[in-house]
Amino acid sequence: MRLSTLAILAPALGALAVPAWAEEVNVYSHRQPDLIQPLADAFTAETGIDVNIAFVDKGMAERLVAEGDRSPADLVLTVDIARLTQIVDAGVTQPVDSEVLKANIPANLRDTDNQWFGLTSRARIIYASKDRVAPGEITTYEDLASDRWKGRLCSRSGTNDYNVALLGAVIAHHDEAYAKTWAEGLKGNLARKPAGGDRDQAKAIWAGECDIAIGNTYYMGQMVNDPDQKEWADALRIEFAVFEGDGTHLNISGVAMTKAAPNKDAALKFMEWLSGDHAQKIYAETNYEFPVKAGVARSELVQSWGDFTADSLDLATVAKARPAALRIMEEINFDG
Ligand code: FE
Repeated sequence: MRLSTLAILAPALGALAVPAWAEEVNVYSHRQPDLIQPLADAFTAETGIDVNIAFVDKGMAERLVAEGDRSPADLVLTVDIARLTQIVDAGVTQPVDSEVLKANIPANLRDTDNQWFGLTSRARIIYASKDRVAPGEITTYEDLASDRWKGRLCSRSGTNDYNVALLGAVIAHHDEAYAKTWAEGLKGNLARKPAGGDRDQAKAIWAGECDIAIGNTYYMGQMVNDPDQKEWADALRIEFAVFEGDGTHLNISGVAMTKAAPNKDAALKFMEWLSGDHAQKIYAETNYEFPVKAGVARSELVQSWGDFTADSLDLATVAKARPAALRIMEEINFDG
């Protein structure tokens, strides 16, 4: 129900009408529930608006298409620019015109048509063995394909979103032919079949199975703060690899409002809140992501890794390269 409607109804309903707790927002989250719940709890504590989270692991766009106008979802939270644009391209989102979102989120981290908004960013960098890789020994993504790393590279699946986005950036910086040769080079350097997530590659470096891997920055923070995984992180050094002549590959997590959104006003409030100081600090301190809002600091741990230059490619270009990148990974059977 719209707030304005509630305001009109309130006098008639008398003591029964308590608009504050009547409000709720429904979220379909591709992000892990244990990450989103603290944000939802803080928002509810501040606003009295309930947040209902459904974890949607696969087929987000398909589900929203199938549910159509009857979808209970107001917002979609997900990682990866291509996932965000897929949902937009499926026609199940609506534009959100908000001065708050525009002020909080830099223009390069939100859609020009206001369909999706980045809430955090993260770098895909190189985990290098402290013992077996010298500082500065690997500085570029291009170099990952070099023979020097034969039998020394570990990777998660080539068709994982993060790796597809990175390969999309390789295509955008070079071309498809180069990207295919590069991906074949990586495959040729693998110490073992791709398996597991980014942290499993860190563990493999710790165990001596390989010397370098590609991973996201925030997993380093998670490992450092997990007693069972701290040793893996301690075995590594973060190398902020760059594309030759450019910078470090970034991806985002973000939010979009569904076309069907039954609780549009509450949904907008939650979106705006997620881009604000409190939520941005939670993202930074509990998941070690980079806040998008200017003036919100990265966590101390993240700052301790040093500064880096972000790649200049715009995210829409990376998303557009996804089909070609995925095709290359399948053609070369990266995981085979
Ligand atoms: Fe992740």
